[in-house]
Amino acid sequence: MNAVLHNIRIVLVNTTHPGNIGAAARAMKNMGLRDLVVVAPHDFPSREASDRAAGARDLLATVRVVDTFEEAIAGCGLVIGSSARQRRIPWPLLDARRCCQQACAEARQHRVALVFGREDRGLTNEELARCHLHVNIPADEAYSSLNLGMAVQVIAYELRMAALDGTLPDDAMADWDKPAADAATLERLFEHFEETLVDLGFLPANAPKQMMTRLRRLVLRARPDEVEVNILRGILRSAQVAAGTRKLGQENT
Ligand code: SAH
Repeated sequence: MNAVLHNIRIVLVNTTHPGNIGAAARAMKNMGLRDLVVVAPHDFPSREASDRAAGARDLLATVRVVDTFEEAIAGCGLVIGSSARQRRIPWPLLDARRCCQQACAEARQHRVALVFGREDRGLTNEELARCHLHVNIPADEAYSSLNLGMAVQVIAYELRMAALDGTLPDDAMADWDKPAADAATLERLFEHFEETLVDLGFLPANAPKQMMTRLRRLVLRARPDEVEVNILRGILRSAQVAAGTRKLGQENT
């Protein structure tokens, strides 16, 4: 994964606010990117850039400053220009997610550049015409232009997610600390539930089973682990003791 991300270059063209260069460096380090090239920035190096980079000052120290767009994209087999607006002549265009998937796939073969424009007017038509592909972050039409540092953050995140594809757990409970309660344990819980609800007068002894079916569904949906089942059964025992239908310390069935 790192080799792929290290083969992706972020290029910032004519950045006006040095803080955005620092923010881009931070976003990149957070997401495992490290190749940052700036084309003729207005004010860099700068204190503001270092402040905004925070823990990514080391990455900032490796930034390459070049004079021209051509120098920045030299050696790249895929050049992607990011733009908040659709240009006059349609160009191959992908949203951030799909574009970053393609970028990561290609970064296995060759260096990929993702180019970001000026804060006030983005990339020029000439610059965009030098790109194989354009990328858009599908922001709200009413205000689709993100802050430059934020745009780098979104793209850097999507690049990382694309690079991590297949390695992240699909299961939200993949790293659970206790074993799942098995079927027999759950069955004993449901029996204990029913017994207690009858003891409490909440369920008539000969009641239809619909309430228990709903309770089962609730508990099964929660996928309780063994410890959670023990806690629930402890609560049920206490309720039975309070109801006078179980003696303190009496064993479970
Ligand atoms: N006002 C400019 C946008 C400048 S924002 C314009 O309308 O073009 C600075 C840079 O951030 C842009 O050049 C682009 O690289 C990036 N950016 C901002 N919003 C974006 C979006 N919605 N999609 C893709 N890139 C975006």
